[in-house]
Amino acid sequence: PFDVLVVGGGPSGASAAIYAARKGIRTGIVAERFGGQIMDTLGIENFISVKYTEGPKLAANLEEHVKEYNVDIINSQRAKRLEKKDLIEVELENGAVLKSKTVILSTGARWRNIGVPGEAEFKNKGVAYCPHCDGPLFEGKDVAVIGGGNSGVEAAIDLAGIVKHVTVIEFSPELKADTVLQDRLQSLPNVTVIKNAQTKEITGTDKVNGISYIDRETGEEHHIELQGVFVQIGLVPNTDWLRGTLELTRTGEIVVDNHGATSIPGIFAAGDCTNSPYKQIIISMGSGANAALGAFDYLIRN
Ligand code: FAD
Repeated sequence: PFDVLVVGGGPSGASAAIYAARKGIRTGIVAERFGGQIMDTLGIENFISVKYTEGPKLAANLEEHVKEYNVDIINSQRAKRLEKKDLIEVELENGAVLKSKTVILSTGARWRNIGVPGEAEFKNKGVAYCPHCDGPLFEGKDVAVIGGGNSGVEAAIDLAGIVKHVTVIEFSPELKADTVLQDRLQSLPNVTVIKNAQTKEITGTDKVNGISYIDRETGEEHHIELQGVFVQIGLVPNTDWLRGTLELTRTGEIVVDNHGATSIPGIFAAGDCTNSPYKQIIISMGSGANAALGAFDYLIRN
């Protein structure tokens, strides 16, 4: 069996594996796709001490760094079951069962899709999810942000400084963002907020040219011409397979303490799949290191 088995090969998993392996203990890492979300990221300018890198390059650097150590890498495999017996068992979709004294869950998250016609079709052709990454592509253009929670309103404030005009589309009768964010949003001259609106379709030809929504009060359909749509309705943690095994928040994030420990002794978690408030590369790497040290601490006491 492993001493530490890491499930997930994004920044948090890679960091956890390196920290564990540096203690000289048997370490494995199983990942559906090594690199995780950064494989879908182009420019990265906030990974401190590296002024600019690109996602796939950082992913290759992560893998290279992990390979410096004696870590068993099990790539392209998805975990489907977690169970604590004498040892902790992780069953993979191919039927293999991996056993370990401790496990670090670092399965990350994905952007929630709105699921309307045009979304999938125009992904990267006007439909975007990350204002920090794709905002500059829409300089001087008209865009919509779907979602009036904190992330949607933050995105709108951010984009308003770059693009010509931002329309925020909120399903509910009221925005859900913190008041201070709403106040800031209202103070901007190039932002319109449409509440009580159900997005119906993202329209376009070869790329986005507009968005249709239904006014939920009148039932009338409206169409706005624009060039970009940012979908900001939440990040979904990749924890469906863990439901019923350990404590999750209402939104499915794994609840961890300040050692990265979950509700089951010996099982730790790190990165975007946890209830940590901010989801960024540098933060997930720190939390991976933290969970590995937490697991090591657990091993020497048990
Ligand atoms: P992830 O990167 O999500 O990795 C999860 C890993 O777990 C993957 O290897 C995945 O294949 C694996 N996995 C999932 N489920 C299973 C399973 N059941 N079994 C086995 N393996 C599984 N952050 C920044 O700091 N700067 C940026 O500029 C930036 N830009 C971004 C742009 C985009 C488009 C996106 C999507 C994200 C961006 N982020 C950025 C956020 C950053 O990528 C994440 O915070 C970070 O990748 C989280 O790392 P993680 O290891 O926790 O999870």
